[in-house]
Amino acid sequence: MIELPEASTLARQICDELAGRRVAAVVAGAAPHKFAWYHGDPAGYAPLLEGEPLVSAAAHGGMVEVHTQRAVLLFQDGVNLRLHPAAGPVPGKHQLLLTFDDGSALSASVQMYGGLYAWDCRETFENPYYRTALEKPSPLEPEQFTEAYFMQLLSSPDVQKLSAKAALATEQRIPGLGNGVLQDILWKARLSPRHKISSLTVEETQALYVSLMSTLAEMSCLRGRDTEKDLYGIPGGYQTVMSAKNAGAPCPTCGSTIVKEAYMGGSVYTCLHCQQ
Ligand SMILES: [Zn+2]
Repeated sequence: MIELPEASTLARQICDELAGRRVAAVVAGAAPHKFAWYHGDPAGYAPLLEGEPLVSAAAHGGMVEVHTQRAVLLFQDGVNLRLHPAAGPVPGKHQLLLTFDDGSALSASVQMYGGLYAWDCRETFENPYYRTALEKPSPLEPEQFTEAYFMQLLSSPDVQKLSAKAALATEQRIPGLGNGVLQDILWKARLSPRHKISSLTVEETQALYVSLMSTLAEMSCLRGRDTEKDLYGIPGGYQTVMSAKNAGAPCPTCGSTIVKEAYMGGSVYTCLHCQQ
């Protein structure tokens, strides 16, 4: 599942590659999927988008937003986005396919679940998940996501009683920060996912802030994590340490075995020696 660094990578790549190209044809809802969500009738996507030049793209949390001159397209974090060159094949199964005037194509396919929303930019699109992602500061913008902001976020009584995983990676407290990127953030801060926020010292909280900011910036710079793929289908350049790739391998810091456990509806990967 893509998270903040992958969404920012996809938005950057879409801007670089597709801005200025005109949408020539649109196919929406070709492969039926129970958990692919559209805004209104997908049959309305072609008249809304065809003939339009792609103008820009941006990431909001784990979502990718694409603008044409008069429409907005929003892809939620369970959607795979791939660019296909003019001469190349496109996948047989997709939930949305945009073909451009030069013959290249952008396909969107839903893994387990995900939204592919399109609307006229003069309309307001109501979606609480989207609104939260728009409103809250992004850790990729340090002048907004300051240490003071982070301290304030953790100081709320509701958050104080939570574990590190629950505080950072649930309820969209930090949009785009999910269970995936969380693992290396906690390992670099030397904290267990189960560590109670109320028992963090000032130094530990500062270390957590530094790790969160630097890890996400590095992941974003390197085209996302190596467990996810970019617009071209190439794995990200950030080598994850605490991920499914390394379960059972030695921790690069201390040599102890990296342990996989189920915790709060998802797997966590930790070094029991470094993250006590
Ligand atoms: Zn270790």
